Amino acid sequence: MEVVSNRYVVIKNFINGTPNESNFEIKTDSISLSIPRGSGVVIVKTLYSSIDPYQLNRMKESSPSQNAISFSARINLGEAIDAFGVGRVVDSDHSEFKKDDLVIGVLQWAEYSIVHEFSTLNKLELIGFPLSYHIGVLGFSGLTAYGGFFEVCKPKKGEKVFVSAASGSVGNLVGQYAKLFGCYVVGCAGTNQKVELLKEKIGFDDAFNYKEEPDLNLALKRYFPDGIDIYFDNVGAEMLEAAVSNMNINGRVGVCGVISEYTDTNKRAAPNMLDIIYKRITIKGFLAADYMNVYADFISTTSDHIRSGKLHVLEDVSFGLDSLPAAFVGLFRGDNVGKKIVKISED
Ligand code: NAP
Repeated sequence: MEVVSNRYVVIKNFINGTPNESNFEIKTDSISLSIPRGSGVVIVKTLYSSIDPYQLNRMKESSPSQNAISFSARINLGEAIDAFGVGRVVDSDHSEFKKDDLVIGVLQWAEYSIVHEFSTLNKLELIGFPLSYHIGVLGFSGLTAYGGFFEVCKPKKGEKVFVSAASGSVGNLVGQYAKLFGCYVVGCAGTNQKVELLKEKIGFDDAFNYKEEPDLNLALKRYFPDGIDIYFDNVGAEMLEAAVSNMNINGRVGVCGVISEYTDTNKRAAPNMLDIIYKRITIKGFLAADYMNVYADFISTTSDHIRSGKLHVLEDVSFGLDSLPAAFVGLFRGDNVGKKIVKISED
């Protein structure tokens, strides 16, 4: 029976503000790579781990999100952190999985995961793209962008769309779907290099660096002299307030995430409610998982766009389990461009 060491990432303390690498620790256990028959579990070697902002809310002592769905439950101190990933089955005592199967779903920030819960693990059928795409553009980021934009924001051709965190994993895809659909799209991001990328490579009509704008309300008036029809919100707080002030009648706000509020629990958006009433604005929060009904359509449309070169895939990959804490912390400093992924092991 082969026993190997298994390294995994834990939090040392609850993180109620901005995360830093000292909040994390890498632990090592030994793990047997063959499973006793009758145990019903599967051992998976992690190949890629997804790095996602919502995990910060799971690392807090408490957050309303922790009781909403099991996926966002609180992470316990000192325990391996479950996270979306792609891996290969090393041994299996489950009828649906066999050794060497590629799998996708909830694994851990670990070299190996023992999977007991199978509702969140699936066999990965490759469709001609790199493995990493399945946790980014063809995974939850993509579904979030697709479901959020088409099903929540309900675009019409020619409408004016504003996207925040536009160079991030979800944001860049929202902008690209919106352009392909025939909307006018402006994004904001936190560096001038990101702004250039959005305009020159990703195809946004315009973009700006929100960190250089002393008055977001005026900035949006400048970029949207005729008003905003759709705001895809990834950041919350002041940006949501400014967007609402600039919305047109019957405007829609799809609230995907409020990352600027994750690191500061006192921060809130207080949009002008008179704007919401008199302009009949709809503000709707959503979860990607709400849109599994469009999953097949999302995969076929997105794969076609990638194959035809109409959709750019932005990935930001770090290497090795040791880089996981820095990769995660970097999301809140704006280090990443596109989907943040850590490659844990070679296949
Ligand atoms: P991401 O955008 O790839 O990475 C986070 C980005 O947010 C950073 O690169 C940074 O870019 C920006 N950011 C960080 N702190 C900020 C702050 N204080 N103010 C403004 N911008 C800040 O991450 P993602 O995975 O695509 O997620 C984007 C948003 O969608 C998050 O709010 C996330 O929670 C949410 N989300 C929701 C769902 C859902 O089902 N509802 C699913 C996936 C993601 P800049 O350089 O532009 O600052």
